[in-house]
Amino acid sequence: MAKVKVVTLGCKANQYDSEQLKKEFQKKGWEMISGNQNPDVFLVNSCTVTNEAARQSRQRLRKMIGAGRKPFLVLYGCYPQAYPEQTEKIPGVDLVIGRQDLGKTVEIIEDQSGIKPPRKELGQNLPFSSRTRAFLKIQEGCESFCSYCIVPRARGRVWSKPGDEIMEEIEELINRGFKEVVLTGIHLGYYGKDCGGIPSLEKVIERILKTPLPRLRLSSLEINEVSEELLDLMEGENALCPHLHLPLQSGSDKILEKMNRKYKARDFIDQTNYFRERIPDLGITSDVMVGFPGETGEDFARTVEVVQEVGFSRIHVFSFSKRAGTPAAQMDQQIPGPEKKKRNQFLREVGEEQQASFNSKYLGREMEVLVEGTEPTQGWSPNYIKYYFTEDLDQGELVRVRGEKLFRDGVWGKEV
Ligand code: SF4
Repeated sequence: MAKVKVVTLGCKANQYDSEQLKKEFQKKGWEMISGNQNPDVFLVNSCTVTNEAARQSRQRLRKMIGAGRKPFLVLYGCYPQAYPEQTEKIPGVDLVIGRQDLGKTVEIIEDQSGIKPPRKELGQNLPFSSRTRAFLKIQEGCESFCSYCIVPRARGRVWSKPGDEIMEEIEELINRGFKEVVLTGIHLGYYGKDCGGIPSLEKVIERILKTPLPRLRLSSLEINEVSEELLDLMEGENALCPHLHLPLQSGSDKILEKMNRKYKARDFIDQTNYFRERIPDLGITSDVMVGFPGETGEDFARTVEVVQEVGFSRIHVFSFSKRAGTPAAQMDQQIPGPEKKKRNQFLREVGEEQQASFNSKYLGREMEVLVEGTEPTQGWSPNYIKYYFTEDLDQGELVRVRGEKLFRDGVWGKEV
């Protein structure tokens, strides 16, 4: 049977695209492989949000070139879409496809590579995935044009998936045994904006909450996109997880303005305080960028203060890197690499302190955990605390766990 290996880099939207691609391959009779087995086709679903992401995409392909029998190499996704000329020149790559070809990708690969599984496999049922959490992309595109981001150029126009289609996919995921679905989008808060707000994100969530899906989570939203209606839904006893991922990016108003972000640091703090008053167990996670052009020591200190004041439960710290074609790449006062590294390290440590402080509130308390990994058994609570525990449990089980002590990036617990 023809074998394909798909490697995914980057965001949740890419993970969703890869799931769709894998489905497409399986429908056409391909065998999906992972680990060290040799595939006939090796596909990298690339990312180009940072230079580092693009470098990793190239590196994954290069590794396969030197590894024994060379498979047919495909570079797919955002990287070729944003930089077609640059990616066409990468040596050893057999096929470069941008994201717009999602539906036709498998056919194009079969035509170009000459590799095709026997068609008698067509129409077979998809195997149940052992994964417990599925990413469902319901929105495409972004028109916010943050000055450091290539995504509005790479991913094109804003588009929302119709409500009925979302519901069909939700039903399918429930039938395939998924316990948690994460609604994702390139800019999830834009959902419905291209069709006059009908349906709105909140209405879609309401519909999903009427299904037997045990858990529903949202990926990223901007601070000013969290509506009262959404908080009402999150406050209720239902499947919607009390977790918001709200990118802060910087705590300095000067830098936020240069980034073309649409809020002030003070509003971010006030809003998150209000959200917590409404939902005391709310987990608030974030992305924070260091070393944006013109970020002085004072600006950075302000970011540290804001992170401390908000008390995030988990942050992802990343260093600014120039993306060709974005306004920030042209800005002067670029910050030297070693300084960015220092700020990154410092903020990570601050983030870890915040995380430990949030997690410690759950010691001695019971939470429901969805088991997602083994050795040791681990999983996530609805408010996105990572739990580790000794009991051997199958992935996909929902168990009640009492927190005993802080452990690694989460809490060590015991099943009750
Ligand atoms: S909101 Fe900003 S960072 Fe996010 S995708 Fe849009 S332009 Fe990029």
